[in-house]
Amino acid sequence: MSDRGPSIESVDVSVFEVPTDQPEADGTLEWTSTTMVVVEVRAGGHRGLGWTYAGAGSATVVSEKLADICIGADPLNVPGVNEQMARACRNLGRPGLVACAISAVDVALWDLKARLLEVPLAALFGQVRPDAPIYGSGGFTTNDDDTTRAQLEQWVGGWGIPRVKVKIGESWGTNPGRDLARVALVREVVGDEVEVYVDANGGYTRKQAVRMGRRFSEEHGVVWFEEPVSSDDLDGLREVRDACGADVAAGEYGYSLGYFAKMVAAGAVDCLQVDVTRCGGYTIWLRAAAVADAHNLQVSGHCAPNLHAHVATAVPNLRHLEYFHDHHRIETMLFDGTLTPDGGQLVPALDRHGHGLSFRHADAEKFRAQ
Ligand SMILES: [Mg+2]
Repeated sequence: MSDRGPSIESVDVSVFEVPTDQPEADGTLEWTSTTMVVVEVRAGGHRGLGWTYAGAGSATVVSEKLADICIGADPLNVPGVNEQMARACRNLGRPGLVACAISAVDVALWDLKARLLEVPLAALFGQVRPDAPIYGSGGFTTNDDDTTRAQLEQWVGGWGIPRVKVKIGESWGTNPGRDLARVALVREVVGDEVEVYVDANGGYTRKQAVRMGRRFSEEHGVVWFEEPVSSDDLDGLREVRDACGADVAAGEYGYSLGYFAKMVAAGAVDCLQVDVTRCGGYTIWLRAAAVADAHNLQVSGHCAPNLHAHVATAVPNLRHLEYFHDHHRIETMLFDGTLTPDGGQLVPALDRHGHGLSFRHADAEKFRAQ
């Protein structure tokens, strides 16, 4: 116990490997499963829950490096613990698995704090808006037309989401004809009123991205062009941004505040993507959103939609959250308290404490990897 209340008593971490419903790929990667690292922290009879979609190595960082920092710490001082974790990992190298580990713990700590204070996370952060708009995301390059059509019909017709995104840049940009045909199919299925987005995952070269981006916008009304070139190529992103009508977005591989600052300073994006399960948790997500806001840019939450819902309503410059196929599937399968995408936004549940989610341990056991 500290003077102010209970101390953090335990940090538990587990790894689950969840197969996809069918083989999936984007422009530059293929996968058949998703790894989820789940962190649970306890204090004063309450439990906080966080997770990251990252490699199993991040669980080792949690158990061997971060747990000792948390245990005995004040659960109300989340930024303080976050800073201690970041400093302790200096020699491990922050980007990647380490930042994902810090993120999962930070999210669990904020959830724990809100539960100790018996408030929803949205109340703890403060709200500038009642809900977070979402866009349907999936549209893998491996999907055949029937699968693409079914996904789009679920998002738009089933759930009423007026924004959709598909993957392009197939096989590192070597199949541009199919990219164009698939985007044409999207527009045909969703009609004229729905916003159509594309994500090349860095699969195009600079001038290829400009040529493709112009056709996507002019022929199919695409308004969001995500990672047209590698997100490490800030000059290239800016070139595409200047040359194409669609908004250029990137930032999903941001593992530290400095990454976002450099991306914004380079004029590389119209909208900054930030992922709570990678950037350093809610603590850093809020700071990254402030960096974007100070440069008159919007932010979009990358993936893990149920973890972003509360914090997203705390910032004035939110554009939307990514309602990603794989994470919708995993989160509704393994967690109670997930939010409905109906109507095209997530509305944080204000009648539950924390982020309002609980993990269905028994249902997850069959996916346990460690
Ligand atoms: Mg992306």
